[in-house]
Amino acid sequence: MLCALFTCADLAMAVPNPLLLETPREIDNSYQVDRTDYEQHIRQLQHILAVRAKPHAKSALLSTRIRIVNQGLAGAFSTQGGIYLDIALLDLLSQFADELSLAEVKDDVYHQMEFNLAYAAALHGSKQLTLLDSYNVVDYAEEQWQYLWEEKQRSEQVIFNNILGFIIAHEMSHILLGHERTVQSRFPDIGDRKPDNMAWVQHRRTIELEADELAARICLHALLQPVMLVPWLDLNETRRRYYGKSAEYPTAAQRITVVNKAYEDIVGIQTKDIDLNEVSPLAPHKDVMQHDILLFLEEFRKVRGFRQSLLIGLDEMMLELLGNGISAADVGGFLYEFIQQKRDLLNGARDNTEVDEAIQAVERGAKGKSVDIAKLTDNLEDAGIGEYVMQMFRDQFETMPINWDELLSQLQILRAAPVQFAQGLDYTYFFANTRLRWQPDVFQALQSALPESEVKAKRLKPYEIGHPVRNALPTYEQRLHILQTWDGEYP
Ligand SMILES: [Zn+2]
Repeated sequence: MLCALFTCADLAMAVPNPLLLETPREIDNSYQVDRTDYEQHIRQLQHILAVRAKPHAKSALLSTRIRIVNQGLAGAFSTQGGIYLDIALLDLLSQFADELSLAEVKDDVYHQMEFNLAYAAALHGSKQLTLLDSYNVVDYAEEQWQYLWEEKQRSEQVIFNNILGFIIAHEMSHILLGHERTVQSRFPDIGDRKPDNMAWVQHRRTIELEADELAARICLHALLQPVMLVPWLDLNETRRRYYGKSAEYPTAAQRITVVNKAYEDIVGIQTKDIDLNEVSPLAPHKDVMQHDILLFLEEFRKVRGFRQSLLIGLDEMMLELLGNGISAADVGGFLYEFIQQKRDLLNGARDNTEVDEAIQAVERGAKGKSVDIAKLTDNLEDAGIGEYVMQMFRDQFETMPINWDELLSQLQILRAAPVQFAQGLDYTYFFANTRLRWQPDVFQALQSALPESEVKAKRLKPYEIGHPVRNALPTYEQRLHILQTWDGEYP
């Protein structure tokens, strides 16, 4: 489970088995191994959650039996004082943690979005969820792969633990808050527990939010971070829509609000203003049909492919400039300007009639006819385009002879304005993934060329064998010890 691969050069050739969604697992050897693994994780998390819990929560956390079932539904529930987690849920979480950790190591938010969409597509279609291709660069040395793989492992464990910890705490909260009893007394007839019954929907939403808030508190007292839930909520929303259960559950925004409340009370800060659109490529209000999902997915793959190929091109260009004796800081400045120009171009113009006039002029130029450059410059200025691409055009007009064909193709991109590609051009991604990250001096000089506003990209640490970016994780015993000796206060 947690050892899913990061594409070590030779491992990359092996195609992992796809995860079969919403189907019971075959009871074979790998089932037994995974189940034992999961059971150990769950027991450890029960102890970790219990260490600092209030007395009655503590004894419930320690004594409640958590059983793994194999019904082929990626869900969790609690009934009659017991908690049931389906192995399909644990498998899905495991694969999710695998992909999210990769996205984290690569600082690639698009990777996660693509996975969530691939999940939606698989759920509606083949039910087979394969891992995304993890990297586009395969000629790293073995020790470099090892380094990245360890980075990913650490991140993956954190994600898996935080989310599974929250799932357990959430089910435990239903038990602690006596929700099953209130449901039975208020809705004794199971037939009334339907999404078209407003009273039921309201009640269900209320108890889910209550369980979320208490779970967030239990987790924070155990030094687990419920904020990791956000992308996971998105995946779950997809599943609920698939089963037509969306209405019964609170929205992701409502759930984040109650989690934030717990953060405010216990940690003293809000997690951060999370823009849900940033993590969810699906419109929250709309039932996305299968063909929409496939369309979205195709779009994401295109943007991701574009970023990857641009990255490879930029790396080559930077190596060449460095090889020609240009200083790393100057290369960084050049890189910044180049990406800004590209971004301006892809973002398009405010006024396309001016762009159309410019295109007609350039077409005349391409046919060898005379072009009024001053008029052309005016057109572009009036079109309302970014300053970097405006400067690029000015430079091109001053270069003799003017390359009309290249100008034309640039203006056509400007006219088409494929903005989704512009959004894919972020410095954090390029800086996190450039091969120059393996050369600390060069990397830091490149970073120094970025403006202060590029906070995340400027904060990235270079890769150095023997110096992991992420700290080593404490063992289970160390975590227990930390919790036992902690005064319970967040700094
Ligand atoms: Zn619940």
